[in-house]
Amino acid sequence: MAKKELTPEQLEARRASNRKSYAKHKEKRRVYKAKYNAENKPKISARSHKYYEEHKDDLNIKSNNYYATHKNEAHNQNVNYRKTHKTEIEKHQLDIKIEVLTHYGNGKCACVKCGFDNTKALSIDHINGHGNTHRRNSNLSGGLEMYRWLKKNNFPEGYQTLCMNCQMIKKIDNKEI
Ligand SMILES: [Zn+2]
Repeated sequence: MAKKELTPEQLEARRASNRKSYAKHKEKRRVYKAKYNAENKPKISARSHKYYEEHKDDLNIKSNNYYATHKNEAHNQNVNYRKTHKTEIEKHQLDIKIEVLTHYGNGKCACVKCGFDNTKALSIDHINGHGNTHRRNSNLSGGLEMYRWLKKNNFPEGYQTLCMNCQMIKKIDNKEI
């Protein structure tokens, strides 16, 4: 006579029963282990101490290896963090740039001469020239440092937002180039 096949319901019931029994057993084991550990502390401690003494070199190598790996992980985490942070910084930098360009664009983030409004080709112009002298004196490298400086100094007068074309035209008109 062929072995009787179990229906899916019967199979599931059997699995549930097994799971229940396993969980009960697991808890029993955990309790037993905790009791054993509590009652045999000195024995266990002596055993692990002995094990450490016998395997010291191996364990130290393992520990050093782990530290080296951990160090790399930490390093990678830092690199990753800086990468994430960089995005935030870049957004913050763009915010400052737009704020300053808008202020010196008379309320619009655009060139005051022609209305060009792509921030990638807009920058701050020193109205009376000597932009480079000013930057040198203030120890500003231009770009972001300039925007930060202007904001920090409550938007001093004498600057305007110009596009690259209008800056070039101004330089030619002033015979600066
Ligand atoms: Zn322009």
